[in-house]
Amino acid sequence: MQLTLAIIKPDAVQAGHTGKILAHLEAAGFQIRAVRLVRLSTAQAQAFYAVHRDRPFFKPLVAFMTSGPALALALARDNAVAHLRDVIGATDPADAKPGTVRKLYAQNKERNAIHASDSAENAAREVAFFFPERELVELG
Ligand code: GDP
Repeated sequence: MQLTLAIIKPDAVQAGHTGKILAHLEAAGFQIRAVRLVRLSTAQAQAFYAVHRDRPFFKPLVAFMTSGPALALALARDNAVAHLRDVIGATDPADAKPGTVRKLYAQNKERNAIHASDSAENAAREVAFFFPERELVELG
């Protein structure tokens, strides 16, 4: 079992898609080990997306991610990082495959419904960003 981090982003929470996205993730074989509804501060969003700080979309991305509640999830599955990337689909919903979370629920390339860690290394860092070890519930 591998852990990865997902965030149901403010656009999807605001639109009332949280429950449907959780059902989609469970149907894809992910088990929830921790969950937290968060309202990110500007400093937190800047820190989380620090890798993008020189990109032209950084400022609007931080504004979007702080615009409302978001749901952070630590998810477990075999091959969780790669599998979750497949399940969420391409960054831009216009390029996402049918049936992916972003194809179903994203509005555009920025307001794209869900975040998923893109490597095992980033997954470890991003899970720890939201959840101290003691908040990761043991399964089974
Ligand atoms: P991801 O790993 O698929 O989430 O994509 P990236 O790591 O490349 O980008 C992080 C987030 O920044 C994306 O999920 C989008 O919310 C946003 N983003 C990425 N590229 C663009 C862009 O070209 N324009 C805008 N406005 N937002 C973007």
